[in-house]
Amino acid sequence: MLENLTDKLGSALRNLRGTGKLTEENMTEALKEVRQALLSADVHFKVARQFVTEVKEQCVGQEVLKSVTPGQQVVKIIHDELVKLLGEGTTELEDKRPLRIMMVGLHGSGKTTSSGKLARYLAKKRDYRPALVACDVYRPAAIDQLEMLAKNESCTFYGDREEKDVVKIGKRGLDAAKEADANLVIFDTAGRLQVDEHLIEEIKRLKKAVQPDEILLVADAALGQEAVNVAKHFHEAVDCTGIILTKLDGDARGGAALSMKSISNVPIKFMGTGEKPDEFDIFHPDRMASRILGMGDVVSLVEKAQDTIDEKEAERMAEKMRKADFNLEDFLQQMQQVKKMGSLNSIMGMMPGMSGVEIGDAEEKKMARTEAIIRSMTPQERQTPRLLRGSRVKRIADGSGVQVRDVNALLKQFGQMQKMMKMMRGGKKGRKMMKAMQ
Ligand code: GDP
Repeated sequence: MLENLTDKLGSALRNLRGTGKLTEENMTEALKEVRQALLSADVHFKVARQFVTEVKEQCVGQEVLKSVTPGQQVVKIIHDELVKLLGEGTTELEDKRPLRIMMVGLHGSGKTTSSGKLARYLAKKRDYRPALVACDVYRPAAIDQLEMLAKNESCTFYGDREEKDVVKIGKRGLDAAKEADANLVIFDTAGRLQVDEHLIEEIKRLKKAVQPDEILLVADAALGQEAVNVAKHFHEAVDCTGIILTKLDGDARGGAALSMKSISNVPIKFMGTGEKPDEFDIFHPDRMASRILGMGDVVSLVEKAQDTIDEKEAERMAEKMRKADFNLEDFLQQMQQVKKMGSLNSIMGMMPGMSGVEIGDAEEKKMARTEAIIRSMTPQERQTPRLLRGSRVKRIADGSGVQVRDVNALLKQFGQMQKMMKMMRGGKKGRKMMKAMQ
């Protein structure tokens, strides 16, 4: 996510971090690079200019130049300014029950997908009972798509392929939601290729009829400045309460995220980071700022782990490791837990200092191969790896479609892991060895 910007800012700041003493001169130079990095990430030029001016003022104001660790202090100032730019304050939705949300945006921005994701998110995290209402009277396919999402998320759906009046659909949708005892109604509206008068009129009529508490604009981050302009237009016409910025997983350069709040005046409330239903989250400006600066996003990582990893299971594993009683079956289970958290790349992106580390297909493939090898073993072999010699190794290699040496490499690696665990388990000798290794 926004790796390009992270790289460029990283190199601009690396020099500053390293310098023992900051002078007006080297700071001006670094800030010029920061500005350049922002511009090449497609950040609006006015926003970039203002950003650099403010950072500079703060640096002078706080007498960074005289500070002991000036480099770090500048990074902190830049971090705080980025948070301001991405949007300070809460990005939570109104905590109302029933809650009515109207989704607006251009065609292809991810409006329908995000309607399903939002329903899922609010049902899971805020205990809402959602209903999805299809208000696209032009594209029957969009109605089908929403109906399918509603089915997958087990929520109420209302749509009428014959009706062409959005106001009627909206009102009947509200009734249907009430009847089904739903306390969250999400209206998915029609999109267009551009913002046009007809579209705005229709949205205004629907707004008047269903009185939404929130109007969320869905904007495609890959469109950069164009997405910001669209948001501005929509906001002027219908008063949006928030933005869902989608496709941040793609090669979005970051310009949309960074300019959105200050140019369109609407806060980003959610972000879409993939096509899957749970690749969606609340937008946290502080966490995003940390990620952009390559400082990682440990809070999100821990939350993700809490969501996906069974706590009891994790404790059982930790206990096994403490007792050095960890076998290949456990190893397989651990790999599966990690996989549940998402791709290795997305996990790396959240670790401090690792955002630039690219986990290629090769590593993902290696993990899949390791899994295949372990799966070709019998339960007894997984529990007692020392049984694995000669013909058994050959059988496993054949079964998993790898070479004998691959199986042996895995066994060797596992053997080393066990040794480490025994060492950590303690005893004077173990502790001494650990110390020697540090
Ligand atoms: P709509 O026309 O605005 O309703 O757009 P759709 O919901 O049909 O989405 C258009 C395309 O964008 C679909 O192929 C979605 O799978 C894809 N999409 C939506 N959100 C995201 C996202 O956050 N990341 C990625 N990579 N694709 C997305």
